[in-house]
Amino acid sequence: MRILVVEDEPGISGFLKQGLEEESFAVDVAENGEKGLQHALSGAYDLLLLDWMLPLKSGVEVCREFRARYAHTPVIFLTAKDTVEETIAGLQSGANDYIKKPFHFEELLERIRVQLRGKEVLEEKYTLGPITLFTDRHLVLRGNEEVPLTQKEFALLEYLMKNKNQICRRTQIIEDVWDIHFEYNTGVIDVFMNSLRKKLQFTTSEDYIQTIRGIGYIAREL
Ligand code: CA
Repeated sequence: MRILVVEDEPGISGFLKQGLEEESFAVDVAENGEKGLQHALSGAYDLLLLDWMLPLKSGVEVCREFRARYAHTPVIFLTAKDTVEETIAGLQSGANDYIKKPFHFEELLERIRVQLRGKEVLEEKYTLGPITLFTDRHLVLRGNEEVPLTQKEFALLEYLMKNKNQICRRTQIIEDVWDIHFEYNTGVIDVFMNSLRKKLQFTTSEDYIQTIRGIGYIAREL
């Protein structure tokens, strides 16, 4: 589970990063609203911890813009604000919860767990070396970087990753990914496979997708 902390006070962000990493979360920190939004929009995060008062872009603005693209990723505000109007503004921008500064780490941790409950079970994802594919979000990451793929490239990669360590025959791939139910010129697969390997930065020395000559392909860990 990966958490993005958007917080301009290094003391607080450092404390959060250390505490959350000790609880086995992967944590990235952004120190202003613009960077925070940029990171958040990569789609790499399971949850956002968002400070309210931030340089360049406020927490509410970040939350609103993030929500326009990601409807389901939980957002928790860290706020010194505690008037009813401000709390409502935060929730209206799309936040799931908020916690008032100063807070106890244990309480924040519990709120994070509540938001993430069931997420691990619900979200279907597959891994292959440095690549993670999220089925529902139609997202592919190499490390933390998004790999932009076309629909067919995504479908092809998804098929190979779902069938990891099994030989995928060319005829099966054509049937499943291209939805064509007859013997077809399967050369089209090679064209897509080449561009897929390039985009995933699979080199000949690090090729997690191997060609089985005359038969098909197999995705496997090196
Ligand atoms: Ca602040």
